[in-house]
Amino acid sequence: MTDTATLTAGLHKALPPIAYAGNPLDRADAVRTDPARLAAVQAAAGARLLVLDGLSPEFSAEGGLVWAPLAAAPEGADLVFLGLDPQGHGCFAAVAPALGGSTAPAAPNLRAMLDAMPAADLAIYGGARSLVDWHARHRFCARCGHATRAAKGGWQRSCANAACGAEHFPRVDPVTIMLVEHDGRLLLGRQPRFPAGRYSALAGFVEPGETVEEAVAREVLEEAGVRVRDVRYVASQPWPYPSSLMIACHALADDPAIAIDHAELEDARWFTRAEVTAALEGRPDAPFGAPTHTAVARHLLEWWMVARG
Ligand SMILES: [Zn+2]
Repeated sequence: MTDTATLTAGLHKALPPIAYAGNPLDRADAVRTDPARLAAVQAAAGARLLVLDGLSPEFSAEGGLVWAPLAAAPEGADLVFLGLDPQGHGCFAAVAPALGGSTAPAAPNLRAMLDAMPAADLAIYGGARSLVDWHARHRFCARCGHATRAAKGGWQRSCANAACGAEHFPRVDPVTIMLVEHDGRLLLGRQPRFPAGRYSALAGFVEPGETVEEAVAREVLEEAGVRVRDVRYVASQPWPYPSSLMIACHALADDPAIAIDHAELEDARWFTRAEVTAALEGRPDAPFGAPTHTAVARHLLEWWMVARG
């Protein structure tokens, strides 16, 4: 018997890997929570520091990440323990005291360089960026306003006010992103900030008190006026701008009538299989531009071509 999960797993093997996934470092939770072990990893020869310029990586001649000896960390920086490399060396990132943090997406020129980065390095960078950025934006306690201190190898911040003592943990914000299908066509939309001609899957944050399925249905109804059913999980992707977890889904619609919310979308349309194929192949006659290969939206489109063929 082939259940849906088995079928989905088999399909994913036929598809390109998901960008920002597949971090090869051992997260070594036991080291994080043991100050003596963490100090030993930090002091060992071979401990290394991910070189960042603010939140952006330095690029090696090959387009990969650049590492320095851990001693190169700026004075007074909080160190984030990223994990152990396959040789057992500790890998760290530094949160410089003056770093302000950002919730903005990566600038287009940086995105282009990241799109070309080797997959394992991109995964390490994504996790490091989210964590370093979280530290920079959470220097003060959300409960009492007192300063916070990094703890557990950078996987926690603790309020320094003894009367409060709140513990804060790195955020992961769930975002649904979905292909809606009707009669063999897909509903795709474009936001005003997209490059010219680009259409992509609709997306939106999961709100408190709703399931992933409910968030998918609400977002599609809000943005495009389309009611969906049979929401199904397809894949997920960590997206470090600043800390999203993209939850990619597929859903069916019975009525294709579209009512666009122009505060959210510039346009939304149904595209045929032939049109999606042309876009994924980058053909000059394609009616829209497909998302870049690091976007889970593109993975969803490629999944659909295989799974719903
Ligand atoms: Zn506090």
